[in-house]
Amino acid sequence: MADMPTEVSWSPASWRAKPIAQDVEYPDAAHLSKVLSKLGTLPPLVTASEIERLRHQLALVQRNEAFLLHAGDCAESFDACTHENLSAKIGLILSFSLILIWGARLPVVRIGRIAGQYAKPRSSKTEKIGDREVLSFRGDNVNGLDPNDRTPDPERLLSAYFHSTATLNYVRGLLTSGFASLHHPRDWSLAHVRSPALRMEFEAIVDGLSDALDFSRTIGVESTASAAFEQGGARSTVGEVDFYTSHEGLMLEYEQALTRAFAIPRSQAQAKGAEKAFYNTSAHFLWIGDRTRQLTGAHVEYFRGIRNPIGVKVGPSMQGEELVRLLGIVDPLKEPGRVTLITRYGAGKIEDHLAGHIAAVQRSGHPVVWICDPMHGNTETSASGLKTRHFGTIIRELTACLRIHAACDSRLGGVSLEFTGEMNDAGFSVTECVGGSMELSEAELGLRYQSFCDPRLNFEQSLDVAFLVSNYFKK
Ligand code: PEP
Ligand code: MN
Repeated sequence: MADMPTEVSWSPASWRAKPIAQDVEYPDAAHLSKVLSKLGTLPPLVTASEIERLRHQLALVQRNEAFLLHAGDCAESFDACTHENLSAKIGLILSFSLILIWGARLPVVRIGRIAGQYAKPRSSKTEKIGDREVLSFRGDNVNGLDPNDRTPDPERLLSAYFHSTATLNYVRGLLTSGFASLHHPRDWSLAHVRSPALRMEFEAIVDGLSDALDFSRTIGVESTASAAFEQGGARSTVGEVDFYTSHEGLMLEYEQALTRAFAIPRSQAQAKGAEKAFYNTSAHFLWIGDRTRQLTGAHVEYFRGIRNPIGVKVGPSMQGEELVRLLGIVDPLKEPGRVTLITRYGAGKIEDHLAGHIAAVQRSGHPVVWICDPMHGNTETSASGLKTRHFGTIIRELTACLRIHAACDSRLGGVSLEFTGEMNDAGFSVTECVGGSMELSEAELGLRYQSFCDPRLNFEQSLDVAFLVSNYFKK
């Protein structure tokens, strides 16, 4: 079959022979190739053993033994690579996951949309700004937001690598220097939560956690974290947490340049029938976007050959049979934890599609992780012209998703969110999505709208979602 290339050999460059959706045309091919050669010599951002560890943990999510939180900005920008922004983002991810762990009594696998989430797919190649038609902004690793800076510049790929490196370096520092310690959750910017009810709920968890940690310390079991969760790599202890990076694998030239062959663990090598595998070392987890998931396209070709766990966005235009064929290409060995399906239908469409997709995947026997992205099918334009999302609509898709999985003898393994813990100097959160416990109105959107891409939930709205999910899974 034309879309079943599993017999055909794969190389990090084999995608080049296929049609490339969302391709970027560089005016200077020699310049691009010089940059790509340089990228090809730079060190990996993440290691093969970290990637293996994430694969193992996602297999636990698939078996309902852990929950996946995938979250961060729609797109990162080079200018937002500051210590305030990064600490706020990590603080929110940690707070969110703590609420889930406390309620659901399950480990949480945290994957940030961070340290490389620069490229954006666009519905149109050009856009009208004033009376000019200019190339669309494709993300900081391609061109500039400034309408006078829209020509794709290969140097931006190098800059993306170095901004990813700086981000990851700071995140690794935060996670190993006590910031992530469960003993100090109040450091994660709780000071800024203005809603008294939300604050009280979070404080109650923190108090309960402190008691539990004191108790563990007293009886001497502090470092006996779940053995199953810890397999497959270095151990982390209570007080430190695992954290993984991800981005949409859109710019295949960049992804290819950071793809490297490494030995795979002996236990896995047997199943794979090979000693080495190709790892994308630019992030632990990469996903294929809803606009680039064509069965015979370049992105699916590239993704089928990498050893990283991958995500696939699944929107309302995906057919059940198409989804199963796609899984046959990217997961021929039916490996638990290899594929995460990120569904994003929209609150008005989920009822028409999700149950059919679940049934098709169940029949196929592919052991996927299902997570809900209640953001991308629910973007609207407000009366003032700002792109927004309504908290109520986001919750409607999320609760429908939980209900439909339960009714189909399946289970929602996690959520994929666009959120930010960013605050202004006075400690106020961004105002990009309407509603939530802070009851943000449409009229308030303009107050602190900072996203240059999709609207994100702010700190308080994100904690609202965390409590909802946590209460659903409460044991
Ligand atoms: C995204 O996750 O930012 C995105 C563009 O999503 P999708 O491919 O689902 O539209
Ligand atoms: Mn987005």
